[in-house]
Amino acid sequence: MGSNILYIEDNPDNMMLVKRALESRGYTLFQAMNGFDGVASAEREEIDLILLDINLPDIDGYEVARRIRSSSKHALAYVPIIAVTANALKGDAEKALSAGCDVYMSKPINIRELWARVEAFVPSPKSK
Ligand code: MN
Repeated sequence: MGSNILYIEDNPDNMMLVKRALESRGYTLFQAMNGFDGVASAEREEIDLILLDINLPDIDGYEVARRIRSSSKHALAYVPIIAVTANALKGDAEKALSAGCDVYMSKPINIRELWARVEAFVPSPKSK
């Protein structure tokens, strides 16, 4: 199994935070700043896990999840998707899960929680 993670996020501060946090654990981070680029990256690259912001400038994260799950690239039916959003409103978790996400995480991003959530699906190259 690889350790390629795709983060679909339009906020540069969150992107930098997650990049540093995951690269420090040996993961390789692929970055997409909007939903369409995110879906395209997922289809183009060999991705082992997707971190998905919900509030994106074009299509929202729910739509991104649905497009990834219904992609003609078979592996994307099974790639783990962790939804990450500031909208911790009631019902968001359910919406993310019903759109095809596996797990839901709220912002602000807690690095230890991020590591734990990611490692539950993809072992850190540094823990091998
Ligand atoms: Mn956003």
